[in-house]
Amino acid sequence: RAKDEGGGAHREFEPALHANAEERRLLENSLRHALARDEFVLHYQPVVDATTEEVVSFEALIRWNSPEHGFVSPAKFIPLAEDTRLIVPIGTWVMERACLEAAENWPEHVRVNVNVSPEQLLETDFVASVVRALSQSGLNAKRLEIEVTESIFLRDASIAREALERCMALGCSIALDDFGTGYSSLGYLRRLKFSTIKVDRSFVQGAAQQSPESLAIIRAVVAMADSLGMTTTAEGVENDEEAQMIRELGCTKIQGYHFGRPMPASDVLDVMARQTGSPRAESA
Ligand code: C2E
Ligand code: MG
Ligand code: MG
Ligand code: MG
Repeated sequence: RAKDEGGGAHREFEPALHANAEERRLLENSLRHALARDEFVLHYQPVVDATTEEVVSFEALIRWNSPEHGFVSPAKFIPLAEDTRLIVPIGTWVMERACLEAAENWPEHVRVNVNVSPEQLLETDFVASVVRALSQSGLNAKRLEIEVTESIFLRDASIAREALERCMALGCSIALDDFGTGYSSLGYLRRLKFSTIKVDRSFVQGAAQQSPESLAIIRAVVAMADSLGMTTTAEGVENDEEAQMIRELGCTKIQGYHFGRPMPASDVLDVMARQTGSPRAESA
């Protein structure tokens, strides 16, 4: 059980975490006020079609600029937000903001991907908050893809599944993020119709280093996704060589620095303008 909670059993033996207890407390204090003080923004990272390289979606990635702590990585404050349940209001803000920005400014064919934490998904009014974000923004539910990790199935799997099924009934799609890095079994792939499996960057990196195991795993995931009627997105593709390899392995979509880093909302419009070949972009 301790192991399920993100390596809790090892935590007590991690001296760095003790040393950081005070830092963590200070960070938590700031995090409590961050929403009210308007310290979050969303950046967006393009996801491209592996074959045509056209942008099909942008993933919303939260950024926190704290007056006290400077820029804090989500890899650091999201786990803290999850532990303190602050992720619930923060996640609601992300959902509303992402739907609004996508609905207001982006072309109709471009979707938005929003990360949702287990704590947020398991809240009783999660689905209601999605409905609200969609209706407030006017975003077509078909343009919203919710990203969850395997960790949502570690506890209350049936509640998680039911919430996701209700979102699918609204028209949203569900992506399984960081695939291959969690603890859970493949059983849930049979029970929930994900639209996309996102192959974790660690496998992409491994494959780029010619690791036969990583190559075999990506091949197997692509084959499995194909036969389940799901698509695949390769995460963390950083150069042309990796993109080429991923294409050859048959992934449907690619995300990574090679095609674009997470960027402010205003830059999304420039990327889309370039893609549709507007006069502004052609003269550039
Ligand atoms: P994720 O959902 O797997 O997002 C992908 C992460 O990989 C992002 O890190 C992105 O910047 C990074 N990345 C993308 N392409 C590349 C690449 O080519 N190379 C490398 N080295 N990295 C790449 P980021 O933005 O720091 O976010 C980290 C994690 O924090 C996310 O992983 C996600 O789990 C979580 N997160 C971010 N925003 C939110 C949010 O709004 N809500 C929740 N619940 N979690 C979020
Ligand atoms: Mg994600
Ligand atoms: Mg991911
Ligand atoms: Mg990842």
